[in-house]
Amino acid sequence: MNIANWLHDTQRRAPRRPALFDGTELVADYATFAAHVRQRAAHLVDQHGLVPGDVVALLMKNSCDYLELLYAIWWMGAVAVPINAKLHPGEAAWIADNAEARLIFTDGGQVFSSRDLPQCCKELDGHLLPANRGWPTLEHPVPRQDQDLAWLFYTSGTTGRSKGVMLSHGNLVAMSLCYATDVDAVSADDAAVYAAPMSHGAGLYNFIHVRCGARHVVPASHGFDAAELFGLAEQVGNVSLFAAPTMVKRMVEQARRQDYHGAGIKTIVYGGGPMYLADLRDAVDTFGPRLVQIYGQGESPMTISVLPRALIAERERPDWASLAASVGHAQSCVEIRILDTGHQPLPTGERGEIAVRGATVMQGYWRNPQATRQTLVDGWLLTGDIGYLDAAGYLTLTDRSKDVIISGGSNVYPREVEEVLAQHPEVFEVCVVGEPDAQWGESVVAFVVTRNGQPLDEGELTAWFLTRMASFKKPKKYVWRSDLPKNSYGKILKTDLRQWLKAASIAAL
Ligand code: AMP
Repeated sequence: MNIANWLHDTQRRAPRRPALFDGTELVADYATFAAHVRQRAAHLVDQHGLVPGDVVALLMKNSCDYLELLYAIWWMGAVAVPINAKLHPGEAAWIADNAEARLIFTDGGQVFSSRDLPQCCKELDGHLLPANRGWPTLEHPVPRQDQDLAWLFYTSGTTGRSKGVMLSHGNLVAMSLCYATDVDAVSADDAAVYAAPMSHGAGLYNFIHVRCGARHVVPASHGFDAAELFGLAEQVGNVSLFAAPTMVKRMVEQARRQDYHGAGIKTIVYGGGPMYLADLRDAVDTFGPRLVQIYGQGESPMTISVLPRALIAERERPDWASLAASVGHAQSCVEIRILDTGHQPLPTGERGEIAVRGATVMQGYWRNPQATRQTLVDGWLLTGDIGYLDAAGYLTLTDRSKDVIISGGSNVYPREVEEVLAQHPEVFEVCVVGEPDAQWGESVVAFVVTRNGQPLDEGELTAWFLTRMASFKKPKKYVWRSDLPKNSYGKILKTDLRQWLKAASIAAL
């Protein structure tokens, strides 16, 4: 099924329901939304000669036009490549080239010089509706099979060169149905607010909201500003949003400043990176039962496990700390296994690589059979994440396999060390990486941002650490920072920190 059928159905059933909002301003009801999509789709076919299966890229900030373009692309059977708007034009051009995009929509249509883009790729302004109002429209979505490609999702590249994850219409339908079943029930009164980039998780959550005839709200800033978001939530009401843990942390800080407790927010879905227990406690204290955690990756978008709202909010449960530190249980359409290095399943409680099988798992990497073979093994997606399952099926993530630090022959999982340091009252943010060490193989280095911006006494901090964790896991070095490098999805860039360490050690020679 073509996922654009969901828009087609909703606009038939509820044409006058409000659909697209720019800030608090209503831009289109579902009939207008679909009319624009039909017109834009016909334009792609008639004016640009696109055929089903062609690839169209988007390098744009969040906007209502973004959603219209995505649906126009699917409506006429093409494949969308949403590119992170904060990428350098050179990186975006690399993706457009790799994806063999025929068109790339940008804000204003003048991001690239003709030399930047591959010859067969044309840049267009994504905010211009087809000029000819009398342009024929494409009445119905072009039929598509479940396995046909819909979204080429370029991985955020925190672990190397970005790869194009092939997501089919069937993958996106399964992901959306899991959302409604496992993450949050959606109704027509809800409003999906796009505070995080639409090229990633926030955008992937549009489908179920289209299906249910809910509102889609793009903040006037086109991005994330916690104070703006709270004001918007209070005006719009019933708001759901996806936020990286670092965004939730900023929301908590801002909420404290203005004594805000979540009015107008229905659900904050967080994921995409670790949320430390200390931060989750603060978030629950601030926002109450509004938080749901998901664990997923581009290769099984937003859908591996879920930690439900009721469980996160139930602070008085004796096992709260261990459950809240987990990423929850498998979502409805996937199975989870823990594998050893020979890809054999491990018993409950043992750590190994997390593998996933089910309807959301990608079709493979675009034009990269070798990476596909390494990642899809015997029908299982090897996530590259390390974790373990408990007897009740709760999954705890310890790290990405390549982030594990091997110090003196023992494995140190940076996540555990970060989790402890994040509990220190003076620590605002922390990130732990390994550094080559002549004596230990690797040693633990902690990058720390303190609340008052001043370094802590390292001896005291280590003594405090040792009351909570084994000595071989203690940081051998602290680097005091005013902030940590993050990508535009809010993920801390460990690679940058490792590179910084390398440069610093070369400079010290
Ligand atoms: P991406 O494909 O860019 O969305 O990155 C996915 C990766 O982010 C996963 O493989 C995990 O390493 C990490 N991740 C996603 N969700 C969570 C979560 N809830 N907790 C911790 N790490 C997460």
